[in-house]
Amino acid sequence: MNIRFINSALFLLIGAFSASLKAEWYSDSAGIMGTNIYVEVWAETPVQGELALRTVMAEMERINQLMSPYIDTSELSVINAKAGQQPVVISDEMFELIDKSVKISKLTKGAFDITFASVGYMYNYKQSERPDEAMIASLLDAINYKHIKLNTENKTVAFTHKKVKIDLGGIAKGHAVDNSISLLQRMGIMHGLVTAGGDTRLIGDRRGKPWIVGIRDPRNKDKQAVVMPLQDSAMSTSGDYERYFEEDGKRYHHILSPKTGKSTYDVQSVSIIGPSSTFNDALSTAVFVMGLREGLGMINRIDGYDAVVMDNQRKMHYSTGLQQ
Ligand code: ADP
Ligand code: MG
Repeated sequence: MNIRFINSALFLLIGAFSASLKAEWYSDSAGIMGTNIYVEVWAETPVQGELALRTVMAEMERINQLMSPYIDTSELSVINAKAGQQPVVISDEMFELIDKSVKISKLTKGAFDITFASVGYMYNYKQSERPDEAMIASLLDAINYKHIKLNTENKTVAFTHKKVKIDLGGIAKGHAVDNSISLLQRMGIMHGLVTAGGDTRLIGDRRGKPWIVGIRDPRNKDKQAVVMPLQDSAMSTSGDYERYFEEDGKRYHHILSPKTGKSTYDVQSVSIIGPSSTFNDALSTAVFVMGLREGLGMINRIDGYDAVVMDNQRKMHYSTGLQQ
């Protein structure tokens, strides 16, 4: 055997050995989908760790390109431009997410409704702009999930009212988190966390201890109202602080009642804990609109889901599953 071969074999061996010792936490954050993305994984090697982080960020970006209302070429924008006139052929992924949204509209008696955007797009929170009463009145008819017609055979969507617009802001981040978690699980990740804004899902625990997921104080971004120890679960929070402006002491925020086209004020924050980020995301928005009594009542009737609500007097309320 020549000496060079032995040398390189030894080098490889040492390399493999030290790589296997490199099992550790890897994390990354980025601004995508108009929100903060955070990923943390326990990986066996730097290669696995880096690949996991990059895979999640790429998935977030892919969904942003598909579902952003701010990108003219997104599938969502194309649907909004055309589905009021004719059926539009859409991707399986978009079809399934719209279908889920409609089912959640039925479950929540219309509190969650992606056609809220028919009026919702008239708000610009960054510019402190809102529609006046006449504008809201002229568009309010267009808010109704029953205007959405999905054709399973042709994989098309059409709107039966010309002024309907849809927006997936109340469910797309949860969907993106669920997809990311599946990708990580397929890579063999056993301990991990993915967060997109208020939507978090976990794989396993934090190696011997639970993950600690915070619910922020709606009136103080540096303070947590509650922290939840969780593992192998997910939690989404909707609050009146994510996007809003104030006018004459009134807070105009981004969660709108489909009945009025205006912000709702019964609660300040809703967190839903359950296995699916997609459902948590949509249900947190729905409970925010439904308000404390009706919203908590609904969650108490859904198996496997729990809620933490802060009402407009800043009092905390918990679903029956969290009260032991
Ligand atoms: P975020 O993490 O942005 O706070 P939420 O889960 O709280 O997300 O959802 C708020 C978003 O949901 C809004 O920005 C808007 O895009 C959308 N939305 C607002 N009202 C409704 C509604 N009644 N039904 C469905 N989606 C809604
Ligand atoms: Mg939500």
